Amino acid sequence: MRRVETDFVVVGSGIAGLMTALYLRNAGQVTILTKAQQEESNSFRAQGGIAAAIGKDDSPSLHREDTLRTGVELCDWVSVDLMVEMAPKTIEQLVEWGTRFDQENGHYALGREGSHSVSRILHVGGDATGAGITSSLLRQARQSEQIEIETHTMVIDLLVSSQGICQGVVTVAAAQPPTLYLARKGVVLATGGCGQLYLYTTNDLVVTGDGFAIAKRAGAKLSDMEFIQFHPTALAVDQNPMFLISEAVRGEGAILRNSTGEAFMSQYHEWKDLAPRDIVSRAIYHEMSQGRKVYLDATILGTRFADRFPKIYRGCLQHGIDPTKDWIPVTPAAHFIMGGIQTDLDGQTTIPRLFACGEVARTGVHGANRLASNSLLEGAVFAQRVAEKLSTLEPQSFDPVMKVTYPDMCIDKQREAEWKRRLRQMMWEHAGIIRTSSGLIEGIERLMELRREVPESYFEVQNMLLTAQIIMESALWRQESRGGHYRFDYPETIPEWSTKHYEI
Ligand SMILES: Cc1cc2nc3c(=O)[nH]c(=O)nc-3n(C[C@H](O)[C@H](O)[C@H](O)COP(=O)(O)OP(=O)(O)OC[C@H]3O[C@@H](n4cnc5c(N)ncnc54)[C@H](O)[C@@H]3O)c2cc1C
Repeated sequence: MRRVETDFVVVGSGIAGLMTALYLRNAGQVTILTKAQQEESNSFRAQGGIAAAIGKDDSPSLHREDTLRTGVELCDWVSVDLMVEMAPKTIEQLVEWGTRFDQENGHYALGREGSHSVSRILHVGGDATGAGITSSLLRQARQSEQIEIETHTMVIDLLVSSQGICQGVVTVAAAQPPTLYLARKGVVLATGGCGQLYLYTTNDLVVTGDGFAIAKRAGAKLSDMEFIQFHPTALAVDQNPMFLISEAVRGEGAILRNSTGEAFMSQYHEWKDLAPRDIVSRAIYHEMSQGRKVYLDATILGTRFADRFPKIYRGCLQHGIDPTKDWIPVTPAAHFIMGGIQTDLDGQTTIPRLFACGEVARTGVHGANRLASNSLLEGAVFAQRVAEKLSTLEPQSFDPVMKVTYPDMCIDKQREAEWKRRLRQMMWEHAGIIRTSSGLIEGIERLMELRREVPESYFEVQNMLLTAQIIMESALWRQESRGGHYRFDYPETIPEWSTKHYEI
């Protein structure tokens, strides 16, 4: 088996992986391993922006309040404090590394999104924030001699020594034998979320929950995995991933209507169209279950739409919808996971020398529901913490008895696609926007059957199955409704559950 030694292994080339690598570059040699092309990530797709309290009428304490309220009593206060306090400085760092946030009259233009009490969303190119940020980070990374990026390289497992210390990763790549990447100082998982577990999702095809499964197999603790955020407004046309209509469009005045033309959100929440995402998603789901279609009416923006949201405008036109005149058909879709690999404030997991950053990590900042535009921020802020901690570690020597054997990767693409389709359907039906005990039990049984069918060598499907199982088991355990987890059989939010976390 091929062996490569480096100081730091970073898995993933989204905002979390890239920023960790950039912060680490003066502390040693960094190897970024990424499953597809460098740009392929949810970070690249992000539209609306990144939150930071930099406006005149804003403050970190207001940002903190909005984050905690949206997280429905389940956030870790200390993590939230750290994130909102570090946000303005993190924005300066992004600017230093080349991001050009949109400006208006000599100041940063700040957008508004659901559940934010003030306008605090910085954006790039109107609605191309993720592409703007990741492109500039990638430019920096490519210029650094200390950073190497291996593309189309999939990490399938962690290497853990006989003392339980993370020493590296195992990878597979087309036309290469499996390779061991040994990390003298540590490994960072920045593999993103798991939207592709669901039939309807906004997430990139690479976002299949690998990091959760890899960490779990190695013995790391995960928690809060039942909390999935369903974005209310994906464009309702049949495609994977689904095209997102950013919440910022509602922030600019667009409203939801059902097929009778009714602006229905006032029936569901006092904040109407800017209510928290779980409430808007369930409201849409409810309208749809009554046989009504749902649309986003952005015609109030008129010709301003194309200037403010050029990417969304083009995306709609491609499907024959002109948002300046037509209502946009929308549907909820799986978008984000609030839980993940448990970490402390430095991104340290429960396995020594294994760190997690970004959507794959459970830092506690999102609680039961994420405030819009806080996830790019989480990745960017905690990347610095992870790098600072990792830089202080002494190099380790490698366990000489470490032996790894893996089945050959022999993939029948058609069978793989069919297994994925079945799994995604199951998750949508059994662990979707509205869950029940009987539905989850049936879902777990169906999942187990599927697990028995899929050979070990289908690493990605295996990861999807394991992550799906963890989500279903966590959802079954939580007998209440809170944020991104809604149980039809336990519809109330029960105060005693606010201190409970399903750790697995
Ligand atoms: C359409 C869309 C719009 C969004 N808009 C916003 C927004 O406006 N603001 C906001 O804050 N958030 C937004 N989000 C959420 C946000 O984009 C993500 O939560 C965030 O980008 C996650 O960053 P990350 O670095 O953790 O993971 P990602 O950016 O998803 O990157 C994961 C990386 O890991 C790699 N990877 C995965 N598994 C493996 C493996 N086994 N081996 C090797 N590499 C692997 C992938 O290839 C990828 O490079 C949006 C999400 C979507 C889908």
